[in-house]
Amino acid sequence: MRFNKLRLAGFKSFCEATDFTIEPGLTGIVGPNGCGKSNLVEALRWVMGENSYKNMRASGMEDVIFSGSGNRPARNMAEVGLVLDNADRLAPAAFNDAETIEVTRRIEREAGSTYRVNGREVRARDVQLLFADASTGARSPALVRQGQIGEIIAAKPQARRLILEEAAGVSGLHSRRHEAELRLKGAEENLVRLEDVLAQIDQQIESLKRQARQATRYKGLAAEIRRYQALALHISWRDEEQRFIDAQHRLDADMRDVAERTADQAETARLQAIAAAALPPLREEEARAGAGLHRLILAREALDGEERRARDRAAELERRVAQLAQDAARETALIEDAVASLERLGQEDAALFEEQGASEAARASAAARLSEAEQVLSAAEVRLNDAQAALADLNARRNALAAALAEETRRLARFEGEWTAIAAERDRLNVEASGLSASAEDMAELEALNARLAAAEAQSLAAEAVHAEARESEALTRGPLNEAERHAQRLETETRTLMKLLGSDSGGLWPPVVESLSVEKGYEAALGAALGDDLDASTNTSAPAHWTSLDGDFDPPGLPPGVESLASLVKAPPALQRRLSQIGIVLRGEGRALLPLMKIGQRLVSKEGDLWRWDGFVSAAEAPTPAARRLAEKNRLGDLMREAEAARQ
Ligand code: ATP
Repeated sequence: MRFNKLRLAGFKSFCEATDFTIEPGLTGIVGPNGCGKSNLVEALRWVMGENSYKNMRASGMEDVIFSGSGNRPARNMAEVGLVLDNADRLAPAAFNDAETIEVTRRIEREAGSTYRVNGREVRARDVQLLFADASTGARSPALVRQGQIGEIIAAKPQARRLILEEAAGVSGLHSRRHEAELRLKGAEENLVRLEDVLAQIDQQIESLKRQARQATRYKGLAAEIRRYQALALHISWRDEEQRFIDAQHRLDADMRDVAERTADQAETARLQAIAAAALPPLREEEARAGAGLHRLILAREALDGEERRARDRAAELERRVAQLAQDAARETALIEDAVASLERLGQEDAALFEEQGASEAARASAAARLSEAEQVLSAAEVRLNDAQAALADLNARRNALAAALAEETRRLARFEGEWTAIAAERDRLNVEASGLSASAEDMAELEALNARLAAAEAQSLAAEAVHAEARESEALTRGPLNEAERHAQRLETETRTLMKLLGSDSGGLWPPVVESLSVEKGYEAALGAALGDDLDASTNTSAPAHWTSLDGDFDPPGLPPGVESLASLVKAPPALQRRLSQIGIVLRGEGRALLPLMKIGQRLVSKEGDLWRWDGFVSAAEAPTPAARRLAEKNRLGDLMREAEAARQ
């Protein structure tokens, strides 16, 4: 083996790439101590596969990398290449395809060494064998270092054998034999493992044969199962298909039913909407009916009172009828007497007529007497009527006097009782006083007391008179009082009914803004026409439709000249102020003329509910909207409450 060139880069003191050419013949290296001569030999051994860092005079294999000097930084890797001459083609077959063989070893910090032969990466062992075959290598005794000759002479026979074997060119055979022994051992171990594997494979084959038999049986059974499953599925499919057809029929019937019910529902909804629309007037009617009912109850009570009075009056009249019957009986008796007289006169007249001798004078006289008797009779009847009327008055007065007499009798009895008690008390006092010697002062005091008593009695009498007068006055005023109470009750009932009606329709969770509105009386229809359905929206911002208060200044465009804003007549939440400021109130006949003068967003309304909008939309007054009716009811409620309060007072 012939070395042509040694190439170093970053190895020990050789920081820069350095080619060390080895020419034929002897090559000597001369230099001072420490210049790096030994480093070259170490590079040679290192590239031939030295794996002991101690033999490299280092504390670790990475110490062979240039570690820096005073003016150069350390390197991260070192590489040594050795170019061999292979012109004779004596290299091992694996590397024998070129004229030269370049063996390189490269080491990087923390990455270890890599070997390449002609650029192809190889194992360290391959490189060591390459040099061993040529009877050289990193540990070759041919590489003699200082003092090594003496070591060889003094070496043991075993160590000398290495030198001799190398000289005989058989050191490579030892390495190869060792390598072959290692490989043989590895092959034997592989054979043992292979036998184990074969035994395992035999077991697996048996197991697989069993599994194959089971699989075959399974496939047969599975095919049979699939066939039966298919059969069962086919049967159930036919059942399901039949059921599907039945269900389809039922679905069609249901669809028809649903369509009919939907139509019914729509019709019902329509009727419900109509009924709902008719509901507020009915409620109003109900309220009115309730108020009317109450009035009727009051009227019935009044009629009951009148009935009682009429009964009393009837009883009175019956008494009078009885009286009149007696009078009539008396008068009948008188009439019978008169009739008897008339008969007698008739008989006389007949006698006179029969006698024919009676003179015309006598007949005239009889006629005169007859007419006289008739006049007497009519006068008696007139007197009887007068007497009956007078009797009725007298009876009434007698009854009143009897009642007054009974009352006075009771009072008299009470006074007499009191008088008796006072007299007894006086007697007792007199008896007590007789045992006492009355002093002049006591007498004076007694007189004073008597005077006070007399004054008190006079006062009592006066008070009684006043009391009687007051009772009379009370009796006189009780009638108007009852009338006023009935009026107040009627108003209160109507107020309660209206409050109930308004309270039941106040909107629940999101009360409409109309609940918080009040408008001057008479302008309800105007406000209802101006705001329309917007009055049903709430001021609650969580409602789907609601009014929101907008911040910031608002400079409203002015209404047509001379038109008053509806805002001045309405008390409303701030959210409505912008809208109200743009609504004007005008007379019925003025709206159309002012139409062209309106600005965007403005509208005019009349008290009656006509509407003119800025964009030309005109709506004539019609029946008041529910909101307008509600506002009117609220105003009516306020009036009723005031009237009821006044009536109660
Ligand atoms: P001598 O004649 O005394 O044997 P020599 O010429 O053989 O000396 P070497 O022993 O080969 O010299 O070289 C030693 C030099 O190599 C020293 O100066 C040492 O600093 C330098 N050296 C050794 N290892 C490294 C390294 N890893 N990086 C840089 N320089 C190194």
